[in-house]
Amino acid sequence: MLTAALNILKQHYGYTTFRPGQQKIITSLLNNKDTLAIMPTGAGKSLCFQIPALLLPGVTLVVSPLISLMKDQVDALNGVGIPATFINSSLTLSQVNERIYNAKCGRYKIIYIAPERLESESFQAAIKVLTISLLAIDEAHCVSQWGHDFRPSYRAVGTFITSLPNRPIIGAFTATATTDVTQDIITLLTLRKPDIYMTGFDRENLSFTVIRGENKQDFTLKYITTNKEQSGIIYAATRKEVDNLYSLLYKKGYSVGKYHAGLPDKERQHYQEQFIYDNISIMVATNAFGMGIDKSNVRYVIHYNMPKNMEAYYQEAGRAGRDGEPSECILLFGAQDPLLQRYLIEQTTFDTDRKTNEISKLQTMVDYCHTPECLRKFILSYFGETSDLTECDNCSNCKDDNELTDITLDAQKIFSCVMRVKERYGTTLIASVLKGSKDKKVLQLGFDSLSTYGLLKNYTLPEIRDAINRLIATDYLMLTDSEYPVVKLAPKGVAVLKNQTKVWQKVPKRTQKITVDNSLFSLLRSLRKTIADREQIPPYLVFADSTLKEMSEFC
Ligand code: ADP
Ligand code: MG
Ligand code: ZN
Repeated sequence: MLTAALNILKQHYGYTTFRPGQQKIITSLLNNKDTLAIMPTGAGKSLCFQIPALLLPGVTLVVSPLISLMKDQVDALNGVGIPATFINSSLTLSQVNERIYNAKCGRYKIIYIAPERLESESFQAAIKVLTISLLAIDEAHCVSQWGHDFRPSYRAVGTFITSLPNRPIIGAFTATATTDVTQDIITLLTLRKPDIYMTGFDRENLSFTVIRGENKQDFTLKYITTNKEQSGIIYAATRKEVDNLYSLLYKKGYSVGKYHAGLPDKERQHYQEQFIYDNISIMVATNAFGMGIDKSNVRYVIHYNMPKNMEAYYQEAGRAGRDGEPSECILLFGAQDPLLQRYLIEQTTFDTDRKTNEISKLQTMVDYCHTPECLRKFILSYFGETSDLTECDNCSNCKDDNELTDITLDAQKIFSCVMRVKERYGTTLIASVLKGSKDKKVLQLGFDSLSTYGLLKNYTLPEIRDAINRLIATDYLMLTDSEYPVVKLAPKGVAVLKNQTKVWQKVPKRTQKITVDNSLFSLLRSLRKTIADREQIPPYLVFADSTLKEMSEFC
């Protein structure tokens, strides 16, 4: 059996050895076991159902959300001599029937299928003529509303399975490993005592970088100029941001395309193909782009905005370096990013529990952006992998040449301020008090008379906020899970306040501080109002108050 699988690997795909996990997953499916395979993006999940498909009798149905890619995927399979086809809404009824008929005659071993199809009763009836040995569900996390890509039509898979005269072997494939999603996959896709395989989540060839407090546009332009020949993806949080960034790069003469759900199908398809076939080197996109795209030579993924959670981040960043060559994943953190993501969560129709869960995941993402520890280690431990790794030498924190500094004194000032405001306020307010800001809210609450008021006045507000965020990320402080998260002192912080331990952190170099100019602040405010009116969005979505202040401080 294994020799047969290995032969297919060599003959059809041209590879000599299996990658970690592949062999076990293939064997499990061939042994008639329901199987759940959790492997990071780019690890090679497709082979794990395609090879059994060729070895099992009858046909394999592959459920995939990637309708726009089905034709390409099928063409690629046909190209290596694997008889496959697809069924989705781009076909007429007679084309669908023809394909089912051809499959019945043994002309296809694999049929890619859109989940929406499974809901249709006429399709359920038509497909009964086939012997389906294996039902492979790709991107299986789409079935779970806890995942980052929920597709309601995936819920039809369970009913579809029960509608079949003979239950096939079920294989589910995903890169998302959180327990709530895993549980949903097992239950909703009706897996029976599945064998679960999870390969290591580490992608050694990827380097991870977080950049805070730098001008995103300048950074990006500089980066793509020095990496001009390379292929890369730039993810931005909103369609508007994608459009803007695209225009900017296009005008500057870069070879660039764009992708978001607001573009006509044709245009999206066009840019996607141009990018895959290396006719354009940079793709500026929202998170709508990339799932299932097998472009092996993406050398960098820049996140122009922080995504909403770690799953989304690792999946998107993981699109770099599928060929195993060194590639870079860079996240540009801006003070606006958490606000925007929060706003987007609030706009959803999720119930309160779900929203709270999303907000706490968002906080972990913010923590990632502020942790002084190894970023790879942070990622791996988020996905439940313990590693002995202390320094990976391939992330911005490990390579960071900033001095490890004793910041106990400043940390104590921050902790006492948290205590003074009775652990009842968020990061922004605490930073304002420490800065000694004349912020309306600070004055209204009378916090300008606190002993901690202005204790860190020599730092800029963003620096103070950064410091607080780092102390949260390293568990000296904690945030409540409430709608408006409040900063509280964690046990580690208490020990520092009692002088029992010290706080050492790699602290970023100080930026130059320039005096605040109030008139500049008013000017920026009125500018913001104009933009907000024009775009018909709330002003805080243009810039938060705090950002306006930062800008007037920096200018
Ligand atoms: P995933 O679905 O897990 O994100 P894919 O199935 O798209 O990953 O595979 C990613 C890339 O790895 C593809 O280019 C694929 O051809 C390649 N690949 C898969 N298995 C092997 C292998 N055993 N040896 C070499 N390359 C492989
Ligand atoms: Mg895949
Ligand atoms: Zn590291």
